[in-house]
Amino acid sequence: MCGFISIYGPSNSDAIHDALSGLLAIQHRGQDAAGAVTFKDRFQAKKGLGLVREVFQDKHLHRLRGHLVVAHVRYPTVGLGEDTDVQPFWLDYPVGTAMAHNGNVTNFHELKRTYFGQRNIHLGSNCDLEVVLYVFADALMRRLADPITVDDVKAAVKEVFDRVKGAYSVVGITSEGMYAFRDPYGIKPCIFGKKVTPEGTWYAVASESVVLDVAGYTIVRDLNAGEMLWIGKDRVPHILQVGNKPHRPCIFEYVYFARPDTFLDGTSVYEARMELGRRLGRAFLATKLQADVVIPVPESARTAGQTMADEIGLPCREGFVKNRYVGRTFIMPNDKARQATIRAKLNPIRAEFEGKRVIILDDSIVRGNTSRQMVKIARQMGAAKVYLASYSPPLMFPCLYGIDMSTKREFVARGRTHEEIAKELGADFVLYQTIEQMEDAVRTAGNKKLEFCKACFMGTYPTGDITEQMISDIEQDRLAASNN
Ligand code: SF4
Repeated sequence: MCGFISIYGPSNSDAIHDALSGLLAIQHRGQDAAGAVTFKDRFQAKKGLGLVREVFQDKHLHRLRGHLVVAHVRYPTVGLGEDTDVQPFWLDYPVGTAMAHNGNVTNFHELKRTYFGQRNIHLGSNCDLEVVLYVFADALMRRLADPITVDDVKAAVKEVFDRVKGAYSVVGITSEGMYAFRDPYGIKPCIFGKKVTPEGTWYAVASESVVLDVAGYTIVRDLNAGEMLWIGKDRVPHILQVGNKPHRPCIFEYVYFARPDTFLDGTSVYEARMELGRRLGRAFLATKLQADVVIPVPESARTAGQTMADEIGLPCREGFVKNRYVGRTFIMPNDKARQATIRAKLNPIRAEFEGKRVIILDDSIVRGNTSRQMVKIARQMGAAKVYLASYSPPLMFPCLYGIDMSTKREFVARGRTHEEIAKELGADFVLYQTIEQMEDAVRTAGNKKLEFCKACFMGTYPTGDITEQMISDIEQDRLAASNN
């Protein structure tokens, strides 16, 4: 999971300021590294490991001039989290272009062995964006014209779609303009916006609509699956359909990744989470269990916690206080780091547990480390019963499209009944949302026609081209990263 923003501002503007406020708005999508590349006469870059505010200081802004910028926050999905893998990447030759992406190239290793191996090209990083950049630049170079036309960009995007498998939303700049494209299945989000100022019109493409909001842009629209955008020297946006696969956006964006104030493909993430909570409330009522309070795990479960509690007729209370200055455990690069931070991150309020039958609600249960600790803390605080609830279904399969949830072996729900999961996590009962209710909840909140990627719940990958070799390559990468 990563986040990006790309901006094409009026001539003589400096787009870096909007880019940085946008990056801060999507810091939740990656806390491992941040970077930006601007263009004014030449590419200028600043990249580094750490949070946006740690990587960028005032002194860098004087250098990052120009009306074109591409910027990124990273969580490593392929690669070892080294500084050589920090995005954006850029090339000065054969075509000058800078690029960033969100997603995962599933045939990254295969492309390294074949496409790049046969050309004797050695990649400078372990980041899968590099293969997208080379394939795109190579195809663009073969058609190179002055100025670059929308057909040139379309041909380059088509070549990427033909060669590069997986899920990827991409943004980039050249000396002449800005481009963006969304993978053929549209698994990763990508939204286009603009703002009109006395200086002229600014265009932006970002991972989430909230990025556009905070930087003062209005939404034009989401890019659809397989669509591309090019804005060249004439400053006219061209949106073209390049791929022709069915749209399968990631449903987990609504469950967890995206900010609640974001809209994705016409659906409010906040409304979706409220609906998810309502449905789980109804499911709890059907169990006939008795509870006294719903305690959502901050921050992600708060929205669903309120509606779940309303539905059951219980209070929703803050039983855990989150230390905001400890990173998100889900996107910590390895298990050791995750375990050490859980307790430091969530501290209980005894009065909300003592003598009560509590429902602890989380967005999902992956490895179970956080859940197990929360159950333990709840019992230490004197809870009479501890029910664990997840407003998404059991996660059982690895995401190969850019989310480092786990390798197959690590899912606590894999190969276990709900009773066994409850026992494993020390809870009195575990309640999951069903897949049907999850889908229906998200559709009810907005776009009724959406069909989703649900591979991490069902094991059916929408791109249909996942091989055992790809799974093994990705799992090896993740194991290497977690041992790093
Ligand atoms: S496998 Fe799960 S997390 Fe990955 S893209 Fe699909 S729905 Fe999203």
